[in-house]
Amino acid sequence: MTTLEIKNLDVSFGEKKILDNLSFNLDSGQIAALLGPSGCGKTTLLRSIAGLIQPDAGTIRFGKQLVSLSSLSLPAHKRKIGYVPQEGALFPHLNIAQNIAFGIDRSAFTKEQIKQVVKEMLTLIDLVGFDKRMPNELSGGQQTRVALARALAVKPAMILLDEPFSALDAQLRAELRTDVIKLLRTQKTTAILVTHDREEALVSSDVVALMRDGKIMQQGSPEQVYSSPTSATTAMSTGDTLVLSAKRLVNGQTNYLFNPINLDANILEIGEVVIRPEEIKISKDLSSAKIIGEITKIDYYGHDAMVEIAVSNESVQVRIPGPAKYATGEKVALEHLGPIRFFANSKS
Ligand code: ATP
Repeated sequence: MTTLEIKNLDVSFGEKKILDNLSFNLDSGQIAALLGPSGCGKTTLLRSIAGLIQPDAGTIRFGKQLVSLSSLSLPAHKRKIGYVPQEGALFPHLNIAQNIAFGIDRSAFTKEQIKQVVKEMLTLIDLVGFDKRMPNELSGGQQTRVALARALAVKPAMILLDEPFSALDAQLRAELRTDVIKLLRTQKTTAILVTHDREEALVSSDVVALMRDGKIMQQGSPEQVYSSPTSATTAMSTGDTLVLSAKRLVNGQTNYLFNPINLDANILEIGEVVIRPEEIKISKDLSSAKIIGEITKIDYYGHDAMVEIAVSNESVQVRIPGPAKYATGEKVALEHLGPIRFFANSKS
C-alpha cells in the first residue's frame, strides 16, 4: 500500500525555486534513502512532508488522506510524523525521559501511560537507566538514539531522519546505522533517511531516491539505481563511475575505448558509455590482449584496491580484490566485462 504520494511539488524561497515539480512515492513499511548533494532540497522536502513548510503547488497524500495542497495544509502536529532534524537537537534543559516524552499528547494519556512509553523507548534504544541524565551527559551516538526515541514515542505513521549520523565518526556511524535500521524494520516503520553518503543510502534502504536541483532524478531499489542508472549523472550519484565517449552505430554496435571497432558503418548516435570500476578485468598476460594500459597509481584499501591505468588518452579506474598484486609502471591487459550502458547526448 502506498503510504506517501507526492505529486508535482513546488517550493520556492523568494525568487529561488528549491523543489521543482517533484514527485515521489513510498510504500508502507519501506525505508527510503534520499541521496543528493548539499543544497539540492532534501531538508526542504522533509520539512514539506512534516508540514513545517507550505508548498506553493502540488499535493502530498498519506494513504488516502490529502494533507497538503497549496490551499490546504494539515498542521504538523496532526500528521503523525516523527521528525529527527539534523544535529538531533535534543532540548538541553530537559532530561532524557522528558525529551522522549516531549511530543506525547498529554491530554490523551495518563502520567503512568507516558512513563510506560518512555520506559519502552529506553529499552528499545538500549539506554535503560539514563532517564535522569541531561543531553550534555550523553555521547553523540547516544544523543542520536534519544532523538530517534523521541520521534518514535508518538507512534508515528512515518519517520523522517535528516542526516542523523553525520556528526559521528565512521565506525560509530556504521554501528548506529545498523541498530537504527534494525529498529525501524522491527517496528515496521515507514521512514525516509536523508544522506550525502552513497554507501549509507544503498545499504540502509529498500528504495533510493536520487535528488538533484529540486527534482528526483531516479527512484528504485538499491540494485536498480546502482546497476541500471538512467544517466551518467545518476550513475555518479551512487558510486565510482567511468564515463567514456562513445558512438552507437546503425548496426547496433558501440564504439568506445574497450571496443574500438571501425566506424565505416554509419554513426547513429554520439554519447557516452558508463562503467563501474569493478566491471573491468585486468591481467598480466598481454599475449592475446586487445587493450593494453600502464598502471599510474594504486590506492590500497585492504579489502580491495583502486588501480588507475593510462589507456590511450584516458585514465581508467579499475577496482580489484586486495591485496594488490600489481605495481605502478606495470603494463596490463584490460577487458570490459560489460554491460555496455550507452547514453546518447541530448540533442540540442
Ligand atoms: P544539505 O545536504 O546541505 O543539508 P539540502 O539538500 O538538505 O542540503 P536544503 O536545506 O533543503 O538542502 O536547502 C535547499 C536550498 O534552499 C539551499 O540553497 C538553502 O540555502 C535554501 N533554503 C533552505 N531553507 C531556506 C529558508 N528558510 N529560506 C531561504 N532559503 C532557504
